[in-house]
Amino acid sequence: MTPTSCALDAVHQRISHACVAAGRPVQSVQLLAVSKTFPASAVVELAMQGQRLFGENYVQEGIEKIAQVNELTQNRWPLEWHFIGPLQSNKTRPVAESFDWVHSVDRLKIAQRLSEQRPKGKPALQVCLQVNISGEPSKSGVSPQEALDLARAVSVLPGIQLRGLMAIPEPATDEHTARVPFAQLRALAQAISANGILLDTLSMGMSADLEPAIAEGATIVRVGTALFGQRPPLTSQ
Ligand SMILES: *Cc1c(COP(=O)(O)O)cnc(C)c1O
Repeated sequence: MTPTSCALDAVHQRISHACVAAGRPVQSVQLLAVSKTFPASAVVELAMQGQRLFGENYVQEGIEKIAQVNELTQNRWPLEWHFIGPLQSNKTRPVAESFDWVHSVDRLKIAQRLSEQRPKGKPALQVCLQVNISGEPSKSGVSPQEALDLARAVSVLPGIQLRGLMAIPEPATDEHTARVPFAQLRALAQAISANGILLDTLSMGMSADLEPAIAEGATIVRVGTALFGQRPPLTSQ
């Protein structure tokens, strides 16, 4: 077995253990492999082992990688590309054109541009609202108080489909503390659904905290390091 296939197996095991512990079906959680900073060849290697969902943080890098992967694989597998990074309004077009999902919609203007720029022949772009669930001043994301209004406005836009909420809480020191913000995100999604905007997706949990996220209802966990190894330190991006 190659190292990455061990890594993929190990992450699948963590997900199944967490699902069993939570009394949830294993299929209720999807694994999004976060391939930022890793080359197209690393994506192809995981795709050969059956991984289908890939996440990217940076527009330029993501667009180039999607093209390279398509070239390398000749679209042999139906890969799904998720944009999960901060999105500036002048960079929405390539995202609307090339990705299948965006997890990081945090204001109406971004959603409106994605809606207008989504090519007509493509299925609706699937979107999550990123919520600043712990209310950290430096973090992107809509505040929990404003999430319902944003969800209402986004849910009626053509070309995009609102699916759920995403959050990146502060790293916690123990599993019990780690669950608190995930529980808050779940409660917020339930409150929005109770207002008639049905949400079926909770994008939460990463390499370090996928277990507490699954315990609180995550339906997509976004995992980078545990699959691909340590990323090189950030330079300009
Ligand atoms: C990088 C990143 C991840 C993956 O983080 P790991 O700790 O490497 O698993 C998940 N979500 C977002 C938004 C990220 O930027």
